[in-house]
Amino acid sequence: MIRFKFAQTKFRDKLLRATKFRNFDGSLTQQLRKTQGAFGTGLQPHALAPDATTNAICGFCATGCSLSLHLREGQAVNLTPDPDHPVNYGMACPKGWEALTVLDAPNRATTPLMRRDRGQALEPCTWEEAAHFFCERMKLTQARFGKESAAFISTGQICLEEMAFLGAFAKFGMGILHGDGNTRQCMATAVMAYKESFGFDSPPYTYGDFQESDVLVFVGSNLCISHPIMWEHVEKNPHQPKIIVLDPRRTETAMAATHHVPLRPKSDLTLLYCLAREILQQGWQDKDFIQAHTEGFAGLATHLEEFTLEHGEEASGIPAAEIQELARLIGQGKRVSFWWTMGVNQSHQATRTAQAIINLALLTGNIGRPGTGANSITGQCNAMGSRLFSNTTNLLGGHRFEEPAHREKVASLLGIPIERIPTQVSLPYHKIMEGIDTGDTKALWVIATNPAHSWINQNEIRERFDKLEFLVVQDMYADTETAELADLVLPAASWGEKEGSFINSERRIGLVKQVRTAPGQALSDFRIFQLLAHEWGCGEFFAEWDSPESVFQLLKELTRGQPCDITGIRDYHHVDTKSGIQWPLPEGSDVEEGSQRRLFADGKFFRPNGKAQFVFDRSRPGPETPDPEYPFYLLTGRGTSAQWHTQTRTRNSRILRSLYPQDAYIEINAADAEALDIEEGQAVRVDSRRGSVTAAALLSPAVTEGSVFLPMHYVETNQLTHSSFDPHSHQPNYKAGAVRLTALARA
Ligand code: SF4
Repeated sequence: MIRFKFAQTKFRDKLLRATKFRNFDGSLTQQLRKTQGAFGTGLQPHALAPDATTNAICGFCATGCSLSLHLREGQAVNLTPDPDHPVNYGMACPKGWEALTVLDAPNRATTPLMRRDRGQALEPCTWEEAAHFFCERMKLTQARFGKESAAFISTGQICLEEMAFLGAFAKFGMGILHGDGNTRQCMATAVMAYKESFGFDSPPYTYGDFQESDVLVFVGSNLCISHPIMWEHVEKNPHQPKIIVLDPRRTETAMAATHHVPLRPKSDLTLLYCLAREILQQGWQDKDFIQAHTEGFAGLATHLEEFTLEHGEEASGIPAAEIQELARLIGQGKRVSFWWTMGVNQSHQATRTAQAIINLALLTGNIGRPGTGANSITGQCNAMGSRLFSNTTNLLGGHRFEEPAHREKVASLLGIPIERIPTQVSLPYHKIMEGIDTGDTKALWVIATNPAHSWINQNEIRERFDKLEFLVVQDMYADTETAELADLVLPAASWGEKEGSFINSERRIGLVKQVRTAPGQALSDFRIFQLLAHEWGCGEFFAEWDSPESVFQLLKELTRGQPCDITGIRDYHHVDTKSGIQWPLPEGSDVEEGSQRRLFADGKFFRPNGKAQFVFDRSRPGPETPDPEYPFYLLTGRGTSAQWHTQTRTRNSRILRSLYPQDAYIEINAADAEALDIEEGQAVRVDSRRGSVTAAALLSPAVTEGSVFLPMHYVETNQLTHSSFDPHSHQPNYKAGAVRLTALARA
């Protein structure tokens, strides 16, 4: 222990001298405390009194609820939802209420862990040893197999200043070309759809639109469960709106809707085209809007000719008269908003499906006005930050790696040699993974995500990880399925233990604050990147990156002139006093506190000619559909609002655990269960061509005959899913595969 402390002291002294860190003096204990707390309470402008209450944005989902955190002696001891915030008006879902509890878990990663040789156990080590090991092994791998052999997988869960630091250090410092985010699993489709249709990744809405529509159309979105506070906005809508839900399952949202459309799995693109055709047939399109603000209408109209009502009925199972009625509701609605999530994004033809939704909004002129929009709802708390600032598929600030002027701008503003900036985009997540098989990916750094649970067809990924020369996992827990396979585990501070900013689903930037001390030796991700950059020998590139707020100022400047320009935001305090600020906010402008702003009110889109583009394609069958051997469609999705993704956090709350089944269950239609002699609660073997798992039968009218549903939160689910991807967004097709069921012996 003494040796460990001595090593820590020497390392930190060396590091502090070398990297301009401030506020370090005194004993090792003080240094560690300040290391953990250097970017939070006490050192930033909004210093908190020891027994204060402060507000911060929740660290689970992209709704971006504001939580009031109540401190005693500088540590948050309780929280309540912020009653005055325009996002959540005093409400929170179960996860938000338990946001502090999950920080106290005994399985937190509290010290770096190193596996010196394969076959040996992970053992505690010092940060000095960990940083040295990281750099030595990464450099060795790059020297033997080329710079491109090292890659990283980032996340939508850390602050945008941290993800920018990661992307900048990895690409400009380490010379890594390929780095992608777990946002590829949830939002890549929306990004690609918006870029092609609008010219920039630009979700146009504000949450006020939920309350101002007279028709709301949800496609593949179970808002009640996935985004329960957004659903509260729908509940507040005073216009007695028509609520249309397109979903193969009778979800909680479908039950609350005025119209549930239980279309066949993956018939959504065809049905959306049929709705568009019917709108044109009836003359319900907005001709003036199409003429003034869009391109490609004639081609779309020709494309739609084959999508008759009869064709729609045959493909989707929805009667032609019902499709006609849906088209009428959309075509004659005054303020129609369209909302989609993972049911669309996680598909084999996801991007074109998202664009079919966008096409409907454009055809009917439902964009840029209150209560309208083609609106992708985001998943993770900072997925939107990742889309602009992770330096993975976009160069920082929504720029393009391939564009010389963009590289020059970024190099000049950050003081990075331009030759350090890659001239091409990264491979997407699945290509990085496939590169492990081909020998192109040899070292992988995984930050705040758990691919050995969440990636599609996890049997495949576990075999792949065994082939890596070096696997690093940086996480707040040391016992995730991925961390257990790692050669090096870097313990990270969590939400509530650090400072930075998030961007929520409606483009609202909000703050995360430090209200707790991270356990043991865990450091903020920001500090970890700083340590590694120093050890790598490129600390001089990041001399100005000495706190999250200083990085926020750099990133802000990078957005100047971009659609996401936020140069009008003065500082963190400005964000805090306005209850968050939606982008854009160019220099010289300001907003009222709690304001709601949407894009495209002027009808000008971000394409060079200012017009939106109709994008369309043929509808293709899924890569795996039920057959006599595997006769059921496997649907996956969120199980309850108390579960978050792979449950690494939510399983650490006794209260949250009490709100959902602990073991995997599968929803089966009662008629199918009867045919297979399966009883409620009985163990069922579920086989796909990838693997077999056991789950408890839940007889449910939510699934139609021929379909079953497995929640994504259980490790069993992705042993069954099919490795296929949208060709444009490269997003995994989680939502459809084929399985068979076998009743196991009753207990
Ligand atoms: Fe947090 Fe999302 Fe729940 Fe709001 S809805 S409290 S942001 S998890």
